[in-house]
Amino acid sequence: MYKLLLSVVAVLLLSNCGLPASERVYKVSGPTMGTLYHISWVDQQDRTSQVKSRIDLRLQDINKIMSTYDSTSELSRINQSTMWPVQQRISTDLSDVLAKALQVNQQSSGAFDITVGPLVNLWGFGPDGSPDRVPEDDLLEEVLTSVGSDVVTLSGQSLFISEKRYLDLSAIAKGWAVDDISLLLESYGIENYLVEIGGEIKTAGVKPQKVSWKVAIERPDVHLQQTAHRVFSPGNRALATSGDYRNFFVENGIRYSHTISPVNGFPVEHELASVTVVNNSAAMADAWATALNVAGPADGMRLAEALELGVYMIVRDQHGNLSELTSTTFNKWFPEFLDQIP
Ligand code: ADP
Ligand code: MG
Repeated sequence: MYKLLLSVVAVLLLSNCGLPASERVYKVSGPTMGTLYHISWVDQQDRTSQVKSRIDLRLQDINKIMSTYDSTSELSRINQSTMWPVQQRISTDLSDVLAKALQVNQQSSGAFDITVGPLVNLWGFGPDGSPDRVPEDDLLEEVLTSVGSDVVTLSGQSLFISEKRYLDLSAIAKGWAVDDISLLLESYGIENYLVEIGGEIKTAGVKPQKVSWKVAIERPDVHLQQTAHRVFSPGNRALATSGDYRNFFVENGIRYSHTISPVNGFPVEHELASVTVVNNSAAMADAWATALNVAGPADGMRLAEALELGVYMIVRDQHGNLSELTSTTFNKWFPEFLDQIP
């Protein structure tokens, strides 16, 4: 009997992969922001249903604030204003994400611009569109005049927009939500976790037995979806990737992607296949990934060096051959990563 009990205990321990019985990885996932979230954390007890319902409620709140897909969100109500200029007090969450967006707008010399919404919609990448063709020249010219963050001023929670604008936080809201949900986990005393929303990721601590969280950077290939190109451990940091290979349409052999240059109003077109930004903040990583995607490989890498950003780029030449570039800060943080690059 005693022997039997011992072997049952042994089997139980083995079935938990040899971890101390008290500590294991718990996982939850679900839909949000037109995409999916996947969250894992290390815990000594199963609190998944309690934590998941808090996560879902918080994500609903965030959508109610910053989604352009919800016509009743705080952001949509500003976008629907009929009287311009607009001056109003906004929530702390909206002012926080807007402040970060305006900072990246300035530092990227306008490459990242949340007022690009009308162009996104014109090209069919917005809430009501289906992207399939290049818009007429004069329409493009006209829409370009309603783009530009220079008319947006934020002072604490006071927002002033001097001319009609349509704000689109799609390129920063997912990252912002990753930061927010990370804080929510920390409020439960959870220190070891991986939070991912639509590809924007933050990791902290380690898995049981001090195994680090590993993240794959996708091969930028439309035909090979979700194939790992490189794998690395971000440590206590966030990362976001912006690429030309997922959301796009083709006309006359040209590929038009959903990242749009606020300067000429055209989807970006260059040799940059994907850019990954590593940062302490997932919101900043998210926004910078889009900003550097607009800037392109040369200007983007110059900016990354000037601002000491952790950046990894995959460049595709005319023949479809891939090459890789990393910034000095990225190399400093991930010296072992370079060993993977041939
Ligand atoms: P990616 O991962 O390719 O960067 P995101 O979902 O993070 O994709 O951001 C793309 C979205 O950002 C677009 O669908 C559009 O709504 C918006 N966007 C496009 N161009 C810009 C830009 N220059 N600045 C800010 N937002 C942009
Ligand atoms: Mg982005």
